[in-house]
Amino acid sequence: MHDFMYKQGKLYCGDIDLAKIAKDVGTPFFCYSLPTIRRHIQAFEGPLAGVDHQTCFAMKANSSMAILSYMAGQGLGADVVSGGELYRALKAGIDGSKIVYSGVGKTVEEIDMAINAGIMMFNIESEEELEVIHEQAQALGKKVAISIRVNPDVDAQTHPYISTGLKENKFGIDVEGSIAQYLKAKEMEYLDVVGIDCHIGSQLTELRPFIDAIERLKFLIARLKEHGIEFRYLDLGGGLGITYSDEEPPHPNEYVKAIREAVEGLGLKLIFEPGRVIIGNTGILVTKVLYRKQRSGKIFVVVDAGMNDLIRPSLYNAYHDIWPLRENHAGRQKADVVGPICESGDFLAKDRNLPHLSRGDLVAVMSAGAYGFTMASNYNSRPKSAEILVDGAQYFVVTKRQTYEDLVAEEILPDEILQK
Ligand SMILES: *Cc1c(COP(=O)(O)O)cnc(C)c1O
Repeated sequence: MHDFMYKQGKLYCGDIDLAKIAKDVGTPFFCYSLPTIRRHIQAFEGPLAGVDHQTCFAMKANSSMAILSYMAGQGLGADVVSGGELYRALKAGIDGSKIVYSGVGKTVEEIDMAINAGIMMFNIESEEELEVIHEQAQALGKKVAISIRVNPDVDAQTHPYISTGLKENKFGIDVEGSIAQYLKAKEMEYLDVVGIDCHIGSQLTELRPFIDAIERLKFLIARLKEHGIEFRYLDLGGGLGITYSDEEPPHPNEYVKAIREAVEGLGLKLIFEPGRVIIGNTGILVTKVLYRKQRSGKIFVVVDAGMNDLIRPSLYNAYHDIWPLRENHAGRQKADVVGPICESGDFLAKDRNLPHLSRGDLVAVMSAGAYGFTMASNYNSRPKSAEILVDGAQYFVVTKRQTYEDLVAEEILPDEILQK
């Protein structure tokens, strides 16, 4: 559950009328509820009480410094997939020992940065990466902790773009291949083989694929043991889904319970990398209606946020609920909510039964806390929106809206070209 609710017909976040924030900071903006973030962390951590584990928040879902700093204070670590995310995690106060590094394309510079930060482990995704990390460890004269990301070939039953645990996906090393890599890694002087890892996809709404993946890993763990390879960590990735419309994903309670049963007796410290389930429903995107247009029976509600602010509908055909900031029961009609960008794929909602929305009305695009602002771009030279964090009756601007000056700040006009 979240903290966005109507009070006397007005949509609030906690104790603040969202229209008041819109008046102060303009639109569009992302708004997150701190009490909801706290509750979601507790919902995940509660059932893990007494279990040797570390939760490493998947930063690609949301990498706001204010939110990360709060999470650091709550004891969370981070799952990073780039040097930029590692930089943010460290700057937010997350200790290197609580950071895992995933991703298929780590550069030498990123690898060195992570080695120097003393991260918990690299999740290695290929044979070549294993060698490069060993070379860099040797060059820096440090023993580096690694695990191998195993691709267990299970179908996560989710959107193909966010399914990662099938043979045909680019992620990880297959079960058979991983044995050879573990044997090789064991002989590498500067590597410390500490774990085994899998992450099979995102927005999973069933437990079955998670458990299937664990069963395959258990089989692999047993075979590796015969080869004298033992670990400290079992990294189970992230991927637990949330409700956007009518999905009924398992509650973190059920997820943790099923996992605890599946890993019983292994004696490994569990690493979790949840992203969406922690942050997805803690945030919304507030936008203003610019125009209403009607053509051959079709209604378009044009708003001031577009695919550059929230790309999930365009990229994954994802569903986000649309809630007007003023409760409105005027004749519902089917409409598309579209952005100002010059692309037909620029929409936030399609064929939705919505109340009559007119120029100047404010609407909230719900469940926008994960993969919202982190995937935003400057396409069409649109400044990125602001991010707001609400705690009770107080709100804080935690990311300023970009300005036009910001848009061109990194650009250079070479004299040589201007003279021509
Ligand atoms: C994206 C990702 C996650 C988080 O996925 P969610 O579905 O947001 O929980 C965790 N681990 C890895 C390696 C990822 O790529």
